[in-house]
Amino acid sequence: MDRIVRSRIRVEGIVQGVGFRPFVHGVAVRHGLSGTVANDGSGVFIEVEGVPEAVAALIEAVRRNPPELAVVDRVSVEPVSPTGAGGFRIVQSVTGGSRRAQVSPDAATCDDCLAELFDPADRRYRYPFVNCTNCGPRFTIITSVPYDRAATTMRGFAMCTACEAEYRDPGDRRFHAQPVCCPGCGPTLTLHTSGGAVIAGDPVAEAAALLGSGSVLAVKGLGGHHLAVDAADEEAVAALRARKHRGDKAFAVMAPDLAAVRELCDLDGAASGVVAALTGPRRPIVLLPRRPGCPVAASVAPGNRDLGVLLPYTPLHHLLARELGRPYVLTSGNLSGEPIAHRDEDARRLAADAFLTHDRPIHTGLDDSVVRIFRDTEVPVRRARGHAPAPIALPWAFPRPVLACGAQLKSTFCLATGSHAVVSQHLGDLENYATMRAFADGVAHFRRLFGIEPEVVVHDLHPEYLSTKYALSLDGVQPLGVQHHHAHIASCLADNGESGPVVGIALDGTGFGTDGTIWGGELLVADLADFERAGHLEPVPMPGGVTAIRQPWRMAAAFLHRAFGPGSFDDLGVVRRNQDRWPAVAALLVNGPAGQVTSSAGRLFDAVSALLGVRDTISYDGQAAVELEQRADPGVRDGYPVTVAGTVIRTTDLIRAVVGDLRRGEAAEVIAARFHHGLAAAVVTAAARVAAANGLEVAALSGGVFCNTLLLGAVVDGLRHHGLRVLLHRRVPCNDGGISLGQAAVAGARDRAAMVAKARS
Ligand SMILES: [Zn+2]
Ligand SMILES: [Zn+2]
Repeated sequence: MDRIVRSRIRVEGIVQGVGFRPFVHGVAVRHGLSGTVANDGSGVFIEVEGVPEAVAALIEAVRRNPPELAVVDRVSVEPVSPTGAGGFRIVQSVTGGSRRAQVSPDAATCDDCLAELFDPADRRYRYPFVNCTNCGPRFTIITSVPYDRAATTMRGFAMCTACEAEYRDPGDRRFHAQPVCCPGCGPTLTLHTSGGAVIAGDPVAEAAALLGSGSVLAVKGLGGHHLAVDAADEEAVAALRARKHRGDKAFAVMAPDLAAVRELCDLDGAASGVVAALTGPRRPIVLLPRRPGCPVAASVAPGNRDLGVLLPYTPLHHLLARELGRPYVLTSGNLSGEPIAHRDEDARRLAADAFLTHDRPIHTGLDDSVVRIFRDTEVPVRRARGHAPAPIALPWAFPRPVLACGAQLKSTFCLATGSHAVVSQHLGDLENYATMRAFADGVAHFRRLFGIEPEVVVHDLHPEYLSTKYALSLDGVQPLGVQHHHAHIASCLADNGESGPVVGIALDGTGFGTDGTIWGGELLVADLADFERAGHLEPVPMPGGVTAIRQPWRMAAAFLHRAFGPGSFDDLGVVRRNQDRWPAVAALLVNGPAGQVTSSAGRLFDAVSALLGVRDTISYDGQAAVELEQRADPGVRDGYPVTVAGTVIRTTDLIRAVVGDLRRGEAAEVIAARFHHGLAAAVVTAAARVAAANGLEVAALSGGVFCNTLLLGAVVDGLRHHGLRVLLHRRVPCNDGGISLGQAAVAGARDRAAMVAKARS
């Protein structure tokens, strides 16, 4: 008997709510081991006893072959004395103690559950809440840790005998699946009118019929309520747009299956990355080139060659898609500017004709994630469902726990401790009370879930951002201001697990500079801890300040004035279209007070967009730039020549060239392309100079303008041509949604530098 050993094994990572305990149970039984497995506040806790080879095999399995949705960060093993107790059991979770457990993201319905959903012989046939240890709701229903049914919004549903038997059977794929349920014991679907009257009949069939007849339907999904209409019904889509006060921003379309996606979008040239993104357990909205003449109403995505498509990710979406038999628009149900409505009482205010809803509460509101595909790789645009709150593992440690509060638009926050950063889901723009409340509630929820008590709180340098004000209102923490574009570059570094130094290229709309001007076209020599501004786009005035952001024609006026001096531009369409308001702005530029100036790349795109007649005013952030990219002819590869004076990019050269081509009657598609390539080449030239002058071999690209894959591709190719290694975002968006990670990374690096300095002194 001296060969019998006992080990205490602690597993940390995303190990709760992903079928980890059943998995351990299965391995232990297979190897004839006795012992226990439990969740606790730090992860999964195992004690096993048996022959050393069997114990080693279990440890190896935990490390190498964990369940599909699990992410194992750390496995620690401690030998203890054998007890001789037989059998292997899953035991009650241990509450209390430290709460470093990591909460799993929600996962799309797995193939096994999908097969049951459409199997008439199955007891969960057409049951909209079917799930198992490999799929279903997680983060959206978790109220506390450790992850157990009592700590979810399923606590009000007592399991029936049949469900409980599956839940307790180690051989069942629902073994310890916390949200397990069936028609006999789980949540119930209902369909009611906007007045609250229940609509009789099968809720899914009736809801599909309503969609088919042009109604706007509210659907309670995983992370909140969506509004749905038949995607081919122009009138219904227009009605949805009007009721949502949506302006022109594109709607996403949910297609029943991959074949339906192929009818909507061109997947022929797309490699495996597209299909993997569409069909994986995260199920984001994927932006893809729309097929000309595809059966989708024009007002789904006006001014856009791309279409955002996604496949069903809950049983309810599958049922609805199959019943309707064609794609439907699925857009976040929210009141203008507010977060997605996740509580039933908020959803009642949505402008829908009918509500397809249920009685499983949603604890945390969560939008759909959005990705683009760049050279067969997923590029995050909005990080939410399926990703949050999966921690981002980093190759360095945070000496003190950090809370980073992000920026203002596309807000996220980040909590970091140990060697992990937890970035919140996309919360929206911090412009109103509801979003700010979601932000503050989210910080409190994450602090509890992850047991992180921040000692440092990071904020943007912009004094008027609500995130800055929130950070400075916290007691008992040390505030740290981090410049916006340094945070962008640090975010790209952290995203890649690197520390720099690099030449950082940050192109975006707005960020408060250290000189009090608005930056946004910046070349930085940066590492995680610090930066130096090494180059930038030529600054121009912003006539009317922030009004110029919503009115790109004002930026056209500013750039024309800078490029040509005061003069007559009456032959240009942008002047004619805005003739009533043009003279006042022109006068402001000639002899107005010295107002705000900006080196923003976003404002440059705005100006060119207005000059080309693409967009004079916008209804959503970045619209003019998005539509300018869409307009560019992909076949045109030449760019306008641009002077790079030292490391300052003379953007007025671009404006003069654009106007010259316009006056020659060149097509907007050609001009848009030449503008992109000209700007890209100038950025590359300036960055290569900065790199050479500072002995740098790596470039890091960040900022919302790099969501533009035409510009991104040209810049990446150019930098590589100069022999530079290029870092791109992979795990968090390049836009302001990634700022909080960068802020946290800067705080950690400053703390590490301070420790080194202290040790030396
Ligand atoms: Zn499943
Ligand atoms: Zn049941």
